[in-house]
Amino acid sequence: MSRNELDVLRKRIDELNDRLLEIINERAALVQRIGELKKAQGAQPYDPVREREILNRIKEKNNGPFKTETLQHLFKEILKASLELQEDDRREALLVSRERKSSDTTIEINGEKIGDGKQRLIAGPCAVESYEQTRQVAEQLKKHGIKIMRGGAFKPRTSPYDFQGLGVEGLKILRRVADEFGLAVVSEIVSPADIELAEEYVDVIQIGARNMQNFELLKAAGRSSKPVLLKRGLAATIDEYMKAAEYVFSAGNENIILCERGIRTFERATRNTLDISAVPVLKQETHLPVFVDVTHATGRRDLLIPTAKAAMAVGADGVMVEVHPDPSVALSDSAQQMDFDLFDRFVSELKGCGLHTTV
Ligand code: PEP
Ligand code: MN
Repeated sequence: MSRNELDVLRKRIDELNDRLLEIINERAALVQRIGELKKAQGAQPYDPVREREILNRIKEKNNGPFKTETLQHLFKEILKASLELQEDDRREALLVSRERKSSDTTIEINGEKIGDGKQRLIAGPCAVESYEQTRQVAEQLKKHGIKIMRGGAFKPRTSPYDFQGLGVEGLKILRRVADEFGLAVVSEIVSPADIELAEEYVDVIQIGARNMQNFELLKAAGRSSKPVLLKRGLAATIDEYMKAAEYVFSAGNENIILCERGIRTFERATRNTLDISAVPVLKQETHLPVFVDVTHATGRRDLLIPTAKAAMAVGADGVMVEVHPDPSVALSDSAQQMDFDLFDRFVSELKGCGLHTTV
C-alpha cells in the first residue's frame, strides 16, 4: 500500500468518525427527549423489552465484517451511556439541588438567619436528663450568646438496655428552659406519629443518622411547619443523603438544615470518620445550609476544637456540639461531651475563627 493510499483511507476513517460522533449525539438528544416523555408518564428510564428489541434488530441487520456479539456489546455500551444520560437529567431535577435554585436557602430560627453566611453554633447536652441539668447548660449558652440549644428527649440507642431518653417529659423540660433563657430548641423525633406533638415544644425537628432513610418519618417531617435538621446516615452516600432531603422538601417543607456527622469506615481511632469534604460538596450540590456535628463525628472531646475549626474552614454554616455539666456521669455519650471549662475554651477558639454569637 502506498503512503498516499494510507492517507486517503485514514481521511475516510476520520470522516466516518465525525459522522459517528454526530449520529451518536443526535441519538443522545432523542434519548433525552424520550426521557422527558417517560418522566411525564411516570415511567422508569430502563425498559428491558425495548433493549431486547434493539439487540435483536442488530442481529437481523448485521452483514459483517463485525460479529453480531461484538456489535451487540458495542451497542450495549451506547445503551448504558444513554440510560445514564436520562438518570443524570433526573438527578439534576432534585428540588434541593443548586440547579433548581442557585441562591442559598436561609432559615429563620430565633432571630438568627441560618445559612446567611455567618457561622453559628448549636450546642447542648446529648440527652435531656433533668430540668436542672438542662438549665445549667442553657445558662452557658446564654453567657456565650448562642441562640440554639440541642438536647435529646427521644434517644435512638444502639442497645435497648441503654437510657432511651425522657420522651415527652424531656421535650417539656427543653421548652421550659428555652423560654426562660430566650433560646430555640432542636430535638430529635424518631416516630412519624410524634411530629405533631413535637411541634408544640421544639423549634427545629432533628432527624437522626439512624433515621435518615426512614421515609415515613421524612414525609411526616416534610408536612411539618417546623424546620428540619437532617443528619447524614451512618453509611449514606451524598447522593442518598440528598434524596433523603428531597423527601422532606418535596413533601412541602423547604426549611432543611443538613448536618454531616461522620460516616462509618474501617478507622477506629475516632467513633466515626468526619467526611469534611462532604461540606463543600453539599454546599455546591445543594442550596441548603450545612452544619457539622463534630461530637458524633469524632466521639472524642480532645478533637472537638480542631475538627470544628476544619468545619468552619471548609465553609460550614455552623457546628453542632454536645456539652454537659458533668460529662463523666452523663447518661449517654459521656466520653465526648464537653464540660463547661472546655466549652468556654471551645467557644473562644471558634470566635477567633469567625464564629458568630450575639455577645
Ligand atoms: C444526636 O445528635 O443526638 C444523635 C444521636 O446523633 P446522630 O443521629 O448523628 O448519631
Ligand atoms: Mn450524643
